[in-house]
Amino acid sequence: MAGSAAPVVGVLALQGDFREHIAVLHSLGADARPIRRPEELAEVAGLVIPGGESTVMDKLSRAFGLAEPLKAAISSGMPVYGTCAGLIMIADRVLDAIEGQQSLGGLDISVRRNAFGSQLDSFETDLDIPVLGDPPVHAVFIRAPIVEDAGGGVRALASLGDGRIVAVEQGNLLGTSFHPEMTGDTRFHEYFLGRVRSA
Ligand code: GLN
Repeated sequence: MAGSAAPVVGVLALQGDFREHIAVLHSLGADARPIRRPEELAEVAGLVIPGGESTVMDKLSRAFGLAEPLKAAISSGMPVYGTCAGLIMIADRVLDAIEGQQSLGGLDISVRRNAFGSQLDSFETDLDIPVLGDPPVHAVFIRAPIVEDAGGGVRALASLGDGRIVAVEQGNLLGTSFHPEMTGDTRFHEYFLGRVRSA
């Protein structure tokens, strides 16, 4: 049965914690591969963009000729999941970007980089995420971005207690401000793989 084959998914491996994502995806039975070149991107059915530093990922993706193929993959409907810096990469609008920073875009959101400031660089909290069910997701935030506004086609999947949005989806694009690849809770990756299987 074609549907039972392991989904082939890439993890953008220019910078950041791509190894952790590959390990989670392998543990879920996916054929997960690091992506550094356009030829590698052409062979996958879905892509994870990891956490790290969006300014560096932006520069490297342009330098390696990956930015345009990535944009084309996003607009063709490839399922993409961005965590933290990866969420910034797939946002249409980036606030507090460095000069010249570009994103790939796709998600109709404005995202603010390093939104929690230097006094609260990192923190952990439990989030109720209805699409994932019980129990709450233990979320790790590290110099995390926040979704400041979202267009009508964007669905908020999770918010902090004060209402600020930290997980979104729009079509085949999924993004979280936090890092599920660090906690052993695989539900976001399973949710993403479900998208890849049905795309
Ligand atoms: N602050 C980083 C950025 O702007 C994101 C941090 C992360 O991915 N943990 O890209």
